[in-house]
Amino acid sequence: MDSRTEAKQVYPTLAMPVRYIKGVGPTRAKAFERLGIKTVADLLEYFPRDWAFAPQCTTIDRLTPGQTATIKGQIISVDYQAFRRVPLMEVIICDQTGSCRLIWFHGGFLRERLIPGQTIVVCGKVESYRYQLQMVNPRFVLYDRDGQIDPSELLSGPIYPACAGLANHVIKRTIHQALDQLGHLVEEFFEPGFLKENDLIDRRLAFEWIHRPQDRAMVDAALRRLKFDELFLMQAGLAIRRYHVQHSATARAMKWSPQIDARIRRRFPFELTEDQQQVIEQIISDMSRPVPMNRLLQGDVGSGKTVVALYAALLAVANKGQVAIMAPTEILAQQHFESIERFLQGSRVRRVLLTGGISGTKRRQITSMIKRGQMDIVVGTVALLEEDVEFADLTLVIIDEQHKFGVAQKGGLRKDFTPHCLVMTATPIPRTLAMTAFGDLDVSVIRHCPPGRGQVVTRLVDTGQRERAYDFIRAQLKAGRQAYFVYPRISNAQTDTALKAATEQYQVLAREVFPDFRVGLLHGQMSSKDKQRIMSPFRSGSLHVLVSTIVIEVGLDVPNATVMVIEDADQFGLAQLHQLRGRIGRGAARSYCLLFANTDNELARQRLEIMTSCNDGFQIAEHDLRLRGPGELFSTRQHGLPDLKIADIAQDYDLLMLARRAAFTLIEHDPYLRQPPHQAIRRALLERFGQRIGLVDVA
Ligand code: ADP
Ligand code: MG
Repeated sequence: MDSRTEAKQVYPTLAMPVRYIKGVGPTRAKAFERLGIKTVADLLEYFPRDWAFAPQCTTIDRLTPGQTATIKGQIISVDYQAFRRVPLMEVIICDQTGSCRLIWFHGGFLRERLIPGQTIVVCGKVESYRYQLQMVNPRFVLYDRDGQIDPSELLSGPIYPACAGLANHVIKRTIHQALDQLGHLVEEFFEPGFLKENDLIDRRLAFEWIHRPQDRAMVDAALRRLKFDELFLMQAGLAIRRYHVQHSATARAMKWSPQIDARIRRRFPFELTEDQQQVIEQIISDMSRPVPMNRLLQGDVGSGKTVVALYAALLAVANKGQVAIMAPTEILAQQHFESIERFLQGSRVRRVLLTGGISGTKRRQITSMIKRGQMDIVVGTVALLEEDVEFADLTLVIIDEQHKFGVAQKGGLRKDFTPHCLVMTATPIPRTLAMTAFGDLDVSVIRHCPPGRGQVVTRLVDTGQRERAYDFIRAQLKAGRQAYFVYPRISNAQTDTALKAATEQYQVLAREVFPDFRVGLLHGQMSSKDKQRIMSPFRSGSLHVLVSTIVIEVGLDVPNATVMVIEDADQFGLAQLHQLRGRIGRGAARSYCLLFANTDNELARQRLEIMTSCNDGFQIAEHDLRLRGPGELFSTRQHGLPDLKIADIAQDYDLLMLARRAAFTLIEHDPYLRQPPHQAIRRALLERFGQRIGLVDVA
């Protein structure tokens, strides 16, 4: 018995290496491996990028202009006309009934392949040109005379993502072979009733139809089922992960009472907005359970997240617990501390700012007080948890503008209790992404800003209008307002780009454009002391114009700043622009955001137009997602989920919702997937996620 038959008998499973498929030798196996295909399962999930359906083969005398047709004939002549304005390849073919011209523009690459005497099968749109039938840029295959295959079939079927070393028909044939040999091993996940209810076809059939469809309707049915399965498995993974966080860790259950509530609210000099109110209720309900809160709070800049966070913090303090509030940078930590200070004037809550700048005896004093439980609220950067700061009783962690989750849980694992965790972000996360990349978190949204905010008017400014724009800004400054100028780069010193850079333009603005006003420069490479030297006078109003890079994206809150100029605005993402724009419109006065862009690119202009008509961060984020794809920040892989092969979260929203509901319901009823009907799902999840979701440990 050779090793090949032996292997087949030992494990006829979808995990079998592709080299055991008939027709796959070591060379092809290598080529498949370069595509990431190792097993038969990988092969079946190598989905076509498109499908072609060539009509039945016909004869040349039956062609009519306008139809799409397939014909088979012999190549009579080949003529490459290289010196025309657009070079073209002209081929004449004949069958027993007549002749037809084939044209390929820029077809020089075909000279080697198309040789008189060969039999060719072509499919394309029939035209009539000077009394001669022709097809322009038809698809074709050279017909192997020994083959018994139906000629139109050669041009039909799946088209796989191109790859060197493996022709499309080889991939196709191999997958068909795999379907014939092992297709019956594809397991069904769901009951027939469920499938029927949700208009889903059998899973085995879906693989068959995606690779071997007879028409477009079969492709669509297969796509629906396979996309559903992919989204379902992802959501089931998230549901399990969430179940584990909730059931493997214990948190301090906080007591809440109307007295505590009143005491906290007395700290706020305003009524909470309805949105704030609602989120606070969600947080109270989370924190009063002995399960760690894992909540993401989204809201545009200035929507009032800090107040909500402070409520949560004071609830923990009222329960004698400690709170860590963390920001991504020291400046932001300082700002948080300052705004908290404003609310806590005269309160007995013990709070401290602990940043890297504090060292020596002072730091030791502070950390020892934290360790002995003599500090209630500690504000700092994320380094708080990573460094050796030890808390006596950390019960709540609040993280601002942090996209990497799990930090708090990691930090807390050493203790008996896991702290509750509230993550805040001003980056609007489209619903679709909230449900995938962050799908195991609870999400709260503050949609409406507190009252009393001025409108923000956004304009796209042409180069010719620059002087007028400067006049306008000078008038605003004279009226006592302040302005931001934002550039995509710090400096052009080492590059020869045409992009404007903050350092150079700062000089121009200070000397030539606004000589009567005070202009300051702020960028990310400055020390935090230097940054403070610029930010404090801007905050107090004695500095009128702040020239900056993206570093102001987060944190600075100056209601008197009513103008923002963004140079080379096309260099920023829409979400980024929206974030930047959030710096203005914080006071009662009307604000102006001027986007300067030096581009003819139509897509770039379209993107910027969205900014002028839309002020809703979520809508903008949806647009951005559609135009640019999920991008790095939200890539599913970064969050420990495999990338999607076939579904597209932006396009397949309804299916995503369906899959999410089904997955979460399933895990609610059978969290460990122990019941016999769920074994196929369990196996598929283990294969996909391995240990990452912890199914293995609990089996
Ligand atoms: P975010 O953290 O979402 O950017 P903040 O919490 O810093 O927003 O709030 C922005 C500003 O609005 C702050 O000056 C804050 O004091 C004020 N604010 C927050 N909530 C309210 C409210 N309900 N009514 C009036 N002003 C509010
Ligand atoms: Mg804030």
